Amino acid sequence: MIRVTEIFRSIQGESTHAGRPCTFVRLTGCPMRCVWCDSEYTFSGGEHYSIDDITAQVKSFGCKLVEVTGGEPLAQKEAFALIKRLCDDDYEVLIETGGYVSTADVDPRAKIILDIKCPASGEEPRNDWSNLQRLRPDMDEVKFVIGDEGDWIYAQRVIKENDLEARSKAILISPAWGQVDLQQLADWVAASGMKIRMQLQLHKYIWGPDVKGV
Ligand code: SF4
Repeated sequence: MIRVTEIFRSIQGESTHAGRPCTFVRLTGCPMRCVWCDSEYTFSGGEHYSIDDITAQVKSFGCKLVEVTGGEPLAQKEAFALIKRLCDDDYEVLIETGGYVSTADVDPRAKIILDIKCPASGEEPRNDWSNLQRLRPDMDEVKFVIGDEGDWIYAQRVIKENDLEARSKAILISPAWGQVDLQQLADWVAASGMKIRMQLQLHKYIWGPDVKGV
């Protein structure tokens, strides 16, 4: 059984898949506590579902793109079997992970969107750096949520030191909601000359920052 906070259909709000119709399976629980976390409601509660229950709900929404997210979706061991089942059922599967849990056992057909936690999150020491070794340049994306200028400097250093421009499909630079001036962040990204892209969380602009299930 897997503890699930919500299953819903919306548009993908982030990554290179932004704007696409997508079914989200949001699993409950996260061992991290990022200071700007926008998913604290996933830390507890939720309901237990079997993999069959989850896939039946996913099927009812009729989207071929499915994102397994959280919380931290990989914190529940059963999540790996769920991901395999969704891949077996021929969905295009995205995994949004906070970078604390190893991605080694994720089904290789799933596409990883890997957070690299910056210092302002308060969780930078918990990054599992081995995850960077498994990035596939044709499939996987990395995301830095930027809370201040120190985070931006940190992100540039990590990108260069780990050759992420060559080793990932995309490098996403995302503002922590309400923490960093968007024009300032755009200026930094534009001046960087790096193969990166600034992204905004579409769903927050469409439905507001506090609405769940969108
Ligand atoms: S990893 Fe994600 S869900 Fe967990 S505390 Fe950080 S932002 Fe929130």
